[in-house]
Amino acid sequence: MKKDASSTSPMRADVVIGGAGFAGLALAIALRQGLGDSFTVTVADPALAMVPSRDPRATAIAAAARRLFEAIGVWQAVADGAQPILDMVVTDSKLDDAVRPTFLSFGGEVEHSRRANSGGVNFGEHEPFAHMIENRFLIDALVAKAKEFGVDLRATAVSGFDNAPYAIGVTLANGEAMTARLLVGADGARSKIREQAGIVTHGWNYDQSAIVTTVAHEREHHGRAEEHFLPAGPFAILPLTGNRVSIVWTESNRDAERMIALPDEEFHAELEKRFGLHLGDLKVVGPRKAFPLGLFTAREFIAERLALVGDAAHVIHPIAGQGLNMGLRDIAALAEAIADAARLGLDIGAADVLERYQRWRRFDTMTMGVATDGLNKLFSNNSDVLRLARDVGLGVVERLPALKNVFIREAAGFTGDVPKLMRGEGV
Ligand SMILES: Cc1cc2nc3c(=O)[nH]c(=O)nc-3n(C[C@H](O)[C@H](O)[C@H](O)COP(=O)(O)OP(=O)(O)OC[C@H]3O[C@@H](n4cnc5c(N)ncnc54)[C@H](O)[C@@H]3O)c2cc1C
Repeated sequence: MKKDASSTSPMRADVVIGGAGFAGLALAIALRQGLGDSFTVTVADPALAMVPSRDPRATAIAAAARRLFEAIGVWQAVADGAQPILDMVVTDSKLDDAVRPTFLSFGGEVEHSRRANSGGVNFGEHEPFAHMIENRFLIDALVAKAKEFGVDLRATAVSGFDNAPYAIGVTLANGEAMTARLLVGADGARSKIREQAGIVTHGWNYDQSAIVTTVAHEREHHGRAEEHFLPAGPFAILPLTGNRVSIVWTESNRDAERMIALPDEEFHAELEKRFGLHLGDLKVVGPRKAFPLGLFTAREFIAERLALVGDAAHVIHPIAGQGLNMGLRDIAALAEAIADAARLGLDIGAADVLERYQRWRRFDTMTMGVATDGLNKLFSNNSDVLRLARDVGLGVVERLPALKNVFIREAAGFTGDVPKLMRGEGV
């Protein structure tokens, strides 16, 4: 990742963002929306050449994350394709158990009360704690909104960067050179920008992959999400619009690879064994793809004139459907720190601006990482003793409505120091 010496007159931007996933695009839009046309933002990502997106996944968008998408004008474009989660059940059983008793159930709405008004958030009445949305819809809507807001989109990678006084020089893989006051690494779990900055990560790979596919079924799902804790790991059935669900099915890496390679009929039989027949006949209607799972956090979220956001900064197990929601909290916090500095005429890439961002986000990230790791270890095993212990725990939560509301508010993203965008306000 060396800078191309032949580039003599670099283009300028206030912020260059490497990565046009959810985090990079949402940050670019929020900055242009909040700071106007004179604040220039470039987003570079080779994947921009592949729009419309073909990502087979769907994501649970927590209520706070939905407010961010509303605030930047993207939710309106995808709302018709979003399925509210109206109800959620959790079961814990062996694969061949004939019956899967429900240990925990949640109504899908955030409690509407004054007490629940934490972090300056006013709750809407009957606000679902999450919606399911297919990734491809959201990415396409983010790209369209970024174009509308005049974000400079470049279908090429960030290949290198060098610090200069008061600026950072950024080289793109197509040979172009840029200077910016801040470079944001939004380039995902295997971030090259993080690597080049010399930022190490703490964490580990699980010997698990999530098999993802889309399934059509005969009967209505009524907006119900199901999480079946099976010995290999969680098997989640997540409602999409129409009689369709998104499956996130955890297996060991070896078994996941084997399942993906099965002929259609055998894959269907394995799926049905885990899914059951409560929604009638099933039909796989999307591609199958396995995503290796891990847990890690970058040791620092910042370096000189550099900030990491989203999966480049942290990756967690999808067991609680919170990875992207955490990434959006990063961009809401970073956008607010940048906008506050820019309005005061300060240097947006200065160390104190970036430290404010890091302080805001690191503790929250560690807490969520530890929680999802604990859940995965507690549930992904076949021990009868652990099953008894966790079922007693789930039974206790089931009987205590106040405790359930705490979990729902946490899942909705309305706890802690909630940045403005996650409250539905602009930066
Ligand atoms: C199976 C599964 C299910 C999940 N379900 C949920 C869920 O229900 N809810 C939830 O909140 N989260 C969920 N997540 C997590 C969520 O998908 C991620 O947290 C989210 O996609 C991260 O977004 P990002 O923009 O940070 O990174 P990415 O989406 O990985 O985007 C990174 C982008 O950077 C680009 N890039 C890479 N290198 C470079 C470079 N050098 N220069 C420029 N660009 C580069 C890539 O092309 C890519 O477009 C799930 C994850 C998995 C695996």
